[in-house]
Amino acid sequence: SSFVHQLADEHLSEEELLADPVEKIAAVGGTRHPSIPLPVDLFGEWRNSGGIDLSVREVLVQTAQGIAAAPATAGTDAADPGAAEAVDRAAAAFRDWADTPIDDRAAILERLADLLEENRIPLMALAVKEAFKTIPDALGEVREAADFCRYYAARARADLWPVALPGPTGERNELHMEGRGVWATIAPWNFPLAIFLGQTAAALVAGNAVVAKPAPQTPEIARAAVALAHRAGVPQDALVLCPGGPEAGAALVADPRVAGVAFTGSTATARRIARTLLEDERRPLVPLIAETGGINAMIVDSTALPEQVVADVITSAFRSAGQRCSALRLLLLQDDIAEGVIAMLKGAMDLLVLGDPGDPATDIGPVIDRAAYDRLMDYRAAMEPQWIKSLPAPAGGLFVPPTLIRLADMDALNQEWFGPILHVATWKAGTLGETIARMNAKGYGLTMGLHSRIARSGELAEARARVGNLYINRSMIGAVVGSQPFGGEGHSGTGPKAGGPHYLQRFCAERAVSVDT
Ligand code: GLU
Repeated sequence: SSFVHQLADEHLSEEELLADPVEKIAAVGGTRHPSIPLPVDLFGEWRNSGGIDLSVREVLVQTAQGIAAAPATAGTDAADPGAAEAVDRAAAAFRDWADTPIDDRAAILERLADLLEENRIPLMALAVKEAFKTIPDALGEVREAADFCRYYAARARADLWPVALPGPTGERNELHMEGRGVWATIAPWNFPLAIFLGQTAAALVAGNAVVAKPAPQTPEIARAAVALAHRAGVPQDALVLCPGGPEAGAALVADPRVAGVAFTGSTATARRIARTLLEDERRPLVPLIAETGGINAMIVDSTALPEQVVADVITSAFRSAGQRCSALRLLLLQDDIAEGVIAMLKGAMDLLVLGDPGDPATDIGPVIDRAAYDRLMDYRAAMEPQWIKSLPAPAGGLFVPPTLIRLADMDALNQEWFGPILHVATWKAGTLGETIARMNAKGYGLTMGLHSRIARSGELAEARARVGNLYINRSMIGAVVGSQPFGGEGHSGTGPKAGGPHYLQRFCAERAVSVDT
């Protein structure tokens, strides 16, 4: 089988694989929750009320078949509202939802997590169908979405109660965390379930009503997620789906009743949103949480284990066809080991399987749409004199061949290329601090990797790297909710970390009450 699958297999003995088939998908898919109850009932085609345990093969086959069967709409009630109507409805629902006890809001998210897992087959099918996710990535979507719901529920129960603060005798001081009003959550196509629902669940559990705008490429999985949220107990108008393109997003953000925006997408769009939020002088100042792109480097020194480096580079740069904002874009090899690592990397690339994302053997599917394909293919063609390696692509789809490009100097890369294109440059022993500083100087700050067995080098990276997520001696993607809170700084975002202990507070108004008793 393919290289990525082989890697996953290495971690588990055959016995373990047979004992817990779902764990095998977990190993490939990356996150937790090994035993998820099987298919239920969002879509009739998938009803399987016996709850029988299916083998991995059956899950994969059902998912692949489900791609064709996945319905165009799931649980839709009425025509989709425009931005103004969506905000009307959410604004009217806000007060009751904000007054719903924290425990009840948290319990609803936990029910939503259960429903996501029960409906994972149709959700995976939609992720494959709409976003061309591979099956392991599609499963990762469902798991991460459920993780976000459970994690934010737990954090809400722990952190959102009023706290008593000290003061002199005769004075009572309290700090309250409350919903701000209507949040707009604007999601990307690359995590059409996990990020769409993660942003939304955080805003909701913090006591806000939400108008959620999915990416135009992936409306149906968002529609399914919203239907499940309503079924879990979120009041119909406390969460309103507002599908559409950039114009829908622009109208939503421009609505003066929107009290906060959580956005994941490009740096350019984040800037446009920020400008819109500040434009109207009569409008309240509202928070923007933005998680955007990155120019992410992995720095490798001569003490690193080459086999591990190669495995982590393949995963970080090419998994999900490089369409993660965390993905590795610039591999920085210490010059005296560069040629050896490159030779191994070329061999490993040969094992990658490009193809139909619904086929369990596929490592890399097509990119999201024609515009992305053209942009990446034009860049790739322009860089052809510097190619070290490129794979053949299957005919007839939007397949961007994984490509390795040599740069004479690391400063030559100053733009994010959101696809399976990896640049390689070298650095000299003794210049680690300077190399990190040169990465910092690019102005982005999302992920960085370091492969080194020298403890002092790890400490240097920890001290100097200005990134939201630093990964040492491992891959650079697949941040796990609650373990690797995710989000960047600089051009990469405004900082709040999804899946981290301080995220919910960013969605709240903090109100201090002081009473002379
Ligand atoms: N959280 C994802 C990861 O760690 C990336 C999110 C994104 O691409 O926006 O790979």
